[in-house]
Amino acid sequence: MIRRAGILPSIYQPPIAMIKPKLIKQFLVEPGTEVNLKDYVTDWTETDEAKELGTDVIKDRASLILEENRKHLDSAQELLYASDTHSVLLIFQAMDAAGKDGTIRHVMSGVNPQGCQVFSFKKPSAEELDHNFLWRYMKALPERGRIGIFNRSYYEDVLVVKVHPEWLGPGQPADPDHRFWEKRYEDINNFEKHLSRNGTLVLKFFLHVSKDEQKRRFLERLTNTEKHWKFSGADLEEREHWKSYQKAFADALSATSTKRAPWYVIPADRKYVARALVADIIATAIQDLKLEFPKVSPEKMALLDAAREKLEGKDKDKDQKPQS
Ligand code: ATP
Ligand code: MG
Repeated sequence: MIRRAGILPSIYQPPIAMIKPKLIKQFLVEPGTEVNLKDYVTDWTETDEAKELGTDVIKDRASLILEENRKHLDSAQELLYASDTHSVLLIFQAMDAAGKDGTIRHVMSGVNPQGCQVFSFKKPSAEELDHNFLWRYMKALPERGRIGIFNRSYYEDVLVVKVHPEWLGPGQPADPDHRFWEKRYEDINNFEKHLSRNGTLVLKFFLHVSKDEQKRRFLERLTNTEKHWKFSGADLEEREHWKSYQKAFADALSATSTKRAPWYVIPADRKYVARALVADIIATAIQDLKLEFPKVSPEKMALLDAAREKLEGKDKDKDQKPQS
């Protein structure tokens, strides 16, 4: 409660459920640390602190936290738009079937659709490959007042492409060495620094799913007719490269988690845990911007007063008419 009370204007309801910052910290990649993904859980309900609570309690709390933070996000978006000083960029990366789509849908479902935009990045076109690797993402950045969501992002250019360097495109080295990737990390860090300096809050989420859970979700897509459409032959091919992907993720997270644009490794084997965590992190980070509604100048205030008096006067006239 203390975290949000008094900082945001009255449209903010005091939160009744939030996650302790100490817990959130476990999922943050501290800038400058070497990430080993084995140190991060994929199923948070298997941790000692979670076992103490039990799955039913966690499920209930998670849905409450998600609900509360959805409301906060909607209010925060309105404030973001009104104050017109910042934008928010949310980046989601993961292995296939980790739940990017569902997390985005659930976390953002309460937000005014006019205030947010989602871009899903697929394999780049020939035109996109003819530009620098950040080009297509620059065109999709949120303007001030908006929340922009990248479902996959320029991180693909140091992840999938690192696993498959043959997809780098024309004019790129056939066999890139480690310096090539380090330069890309550096470009990304500089890009995000530029965004942050220009008022964009950047938050990055790696939805960390286990290989077993991915298998379970693929099987669900293969057996449930309503989920058939979600399965692609490429999914199994990429699963074969699981280890290389985990290494590419660990390298990218180690090199690009910064104070200005931090990475969170979100345990994603339980969808309700992932959604509650992501919603809480976003709502808290926007709150920490300490945005305010624009102050009304004395001239504007006089204008508002005059307009109100005029309207009220007119309504009085109208009310009185039938009597005359
Ligand atoms: P779902 O989780 O529903 O499968 P998705 O995000 O995986 O959604 P797909 O259309 O299945 O969407 O896959 C998009 C593909 O595009 C991914 O395999 C991804 O690795 C690839 N891709 C994205 N960006 C790049 C890039 N810069 N270079 C090469 N491939 C890319
Ligand atoms: Mg896919």
